[in-house]
Amino acid sequence: MAKISINLATGSLQKEEIIVGIDLGTTNSLVAFINPDKNPQVINDTGKGVLVPSVVHFNAQGDAIVGNEAKAFLITDPANTIFSVKRLLGRSYKDVAGHQDTFSYKIIDDETEALVKIRAGGKFYTPIELSAQILKELKARAEHALKTPVNRAVITVPAYFNDSQRQATRDAGRLAGIDVLRIVNEPTAASLAYGLGLDPNQQKTIAVYDLGGGTFDVSILSIQNGIFEVLSTNGNTFLGGDDFDRAIVHYWIEKNRLDTHILQEDNALMQSLRLQAEAAKKALSNQNLYNEKLGDIWCTIDKQTFESLIAPKVTETIDSCAQALRDARLSITDIDEVVLVGGSTRTPYVKQQVAEFFGREPHDQINPDEVVALGAAIQADILAGNRSDILLLDVTPLSLGIETMGGLMDIIIPRNAKVPTKAGRQYTTSVDGQVNMKISVFQGERDLVAENRKLAEFELKGIPAMPAGLPKIDINFLLNADGILTVQAIELRSGVKQEIDVKPSYGLTDETVEKMLIDSITYAKSDVAQRMLIEARSEGEQLVYTAERFIEKHGSYLSTEEISKTRKHIEALRTALQQPEKDEILKRTDELNEYTRPFAERVMDVAVSAAMKGKSIDRE
Ligand code: AMP
Repeated sequence: MAKISINLATGSLQKEEIIVGIDLGTTNSLVAFINPDKNPQVINDTGKGVLVPSVVHFNAQGDAIVGNEAKAFLITDPANTIFSVKRLLGRSYKDVAGHQDTFSYKIIDDETEALVKIRAGGKFYTPIELSAQILKELKARAEHALKTPVNRAVITVPAYFNDSQRQATRDAGRLAGIDVLRIVNEPTAASLAYGLGLDPNQQKTIAVYDLGGGTFDVSILSIQNGIFEVLSTNGNTFLGGDDFDRAIVHYWIEKNRLDTHILQEDNALMQSLRLQAEAAKKALSNQNLYNEKLGDIWCTIDKQTFESLIAPKVTETIDSCAQALRDARLSITDIDEVVLVGGSTRTPYVKQQVAEFFGREPHDQINPDEVVALGAAIQADILAGNRSDILLLDVTPLSLGIETMGGLMDIIIPRNAKVPTKAGRQYTTSVDGQVNMKISVFQGERDLVAENRKLAEFELKGIPAMPAGLPKIDINFLLNADGILTVQAIELRSGVKQEIDVKPSYGLTDETVEKMLIDSITYAKSDVAQRMLIEARSEGEQLVYTAERFIEKHGSYLSTEEISKTRKHIEALRTALQQPEKDEILKRTDELNEYTRPFAERVMDVAVSAAMKGKSIDRE
């Protein structure tokens, strides 16, 4: 067990290197560091501002443009301009189904468990690649402003992010050439920025209320011996300051008796109204009346009216706070501190309601847009060992995981996780009637297990024969304080179980760990490319299999032409599968999917009406 500090450029141990804190946000991202006066400070790369809009645009050449420049293309070229990618990180198609209309760009909408991809400029990108573009921009700005290479960072995520969303954030960092020392919860970072949790003798319960542009969450944290624990979280990922802007726009539309049909057609006017509404909202944070004109439209609103318009939304957030308290089995009097995060907490009415509910004044002295990044910088400083007063916990130096389809590494305990720790994930079989499953345990940061270190292998035997995909196999990793890893596999339907103990650090020198880490960054790009090719292939192969079975089984519902066209699409996909071109495979997969989707619906309709007539249509 060790804490490794390496300079990725030279491979040597380096004490003085600056480790930055990054707030990778849904709308805006920013980066902070600890300045020579030992204070956290946000980075403002000459004139570009502190906040980098989390927007990526791909131009005709396929080059990525990030930030303010990209934001301009949201209106002129929305299909190739990606915003809010954080909402898609680590998500599968199933997770985001129903939300496509919130995105102007194309999310490939397979009804599968696979992770989402986004099509822009004729290419396919994963949210990891897109987030990596934002992180690269932040890294470049930090390097430019600080005039030194920046290779290591702490990145924050919402407390409610699951394992796969956290892993995706780590992968994005690695792809951007950043060694992600730790993923920290945003509310934890915000608390650290206010100095909460820095005194190891302090015991506190904190509520962190975070209202941004498009998302809201509240987290209840407890700190004990310098360790943060998330007791509960609640919120709404589609509620924020944007709703306040919309409420003002509707108010003006009514007051000016504007024709909503005309407005629906006139995108530019709606956009101007929205921007004016945002300006009004911000102004009302400091004054009682806003009074401007937009062409012939009177854009007037007073504070009281504004507050009555937003009250229902604010009440919703307060209800979430109450729910979070109930989930944590606490009452208001148990809360010692309240911390405000997010630009929308500048609205005095929001602040008042939060203060009233919790019965105490919240911490609001630090800029609510910057507080998370500043806290992340403090966490980075702690990890760098610059704060001798703070207890540093043992961490696992390399990720631990198992081999999955195509020889890919699936990380279960990420590197830098505090020990003791436990984590698990559910798997299933890929072949009908599979009764045994080989579980190979690996250690390392590379995407292909072949490049990592094998720790152990065992077989889970006696899985009852079932169709592929039905067995539920839980794989649990438990790493105890002595560094012993227990891997347990259990099939939940039958209860068959198998476990094994290994010592991951056995025979592992610091030099080996360093080399493995450096390699993971050096090869990040090719590793990710390879992984995406393997994933695209598995998806494509699966679809060829399903489409062929579909024709076999339900061919009678299709015309001869439809069958021959489907076969053509299958052949095109098959040919693509022979080549190492991820985008071509995804394109062909997409085409076959789009072409055959109506057929599946047709068969379903027939099945439903047949069932209603009491007939069975099973023709097998
Ligand atoms: P964030 O996502 O945390 O960057 O928050 C952005 C949101 O904060 C947007 O809805 C902004 O309109 C809002 N915001 C920024 N400044 C103010 C202000 N002075 N008063 C009210 N809301 C603001």
